[in-house]
Amino acid sequence: MDILFSPWRYGYMHEPKPEGFCALCHIQSQTRDENNFILHRGQNAAVVLNLYPYTTGHLMIFPLRHLADLNSCSAAARTEIIELASRAEAALQSEYHPDGMNVGINLGRAAGAGIVGHLHLHVVPRWQGDANFVSVIGETRVIPEDLVRTYARLRPYFNS
Ligand SMILES: [Zn+2]
Repeated sequence: MDILFSPWRYGYMHEPKPEGFCALCHIQSQTRDENNFILHRGQNAAVVLNLYPYTTGHLMIFPLRHLADLNSCSAAARTEIIELASRAEAALQSEYHPDGMNVGINLGRAAGAGIVGHLHLHVVPRWQGDANFVSVIGETRVIPEDLVRTYARLRPYFNS
């Protein structure tokens, strides 16, 4: 297994963005989903690989509309987000066999949201011992697999 460190993550998170820029709206506006690691586009929500994953297989599920919180979403969008979370859980379980998973939403910058203003639900596979010294101390995560490979492995689970 190749081990890759990603100290650039910290830099990215603190880069200034153009006014009004939303990464999740931006990738939707483009057509080549594989270039943006979009695994699935549904009627109201989509699934994408996190470009700065905490662990291999870190996914995000988000409403297609630029909405900040669950209350703003339609009931159909909320239902679809949970259905996709369930599908993500199953895909990650059969492909990566993690010991556990974190599934959750950070609402607002104070809660740790990296993309403020566009709701997204994280699905993060976890393995015993992955919260190691480096990640806790240095804001650096250990990433054992590159995104192109992860995309190729997970894409079949979301085709349809
Ligand atoms: Zn947006």
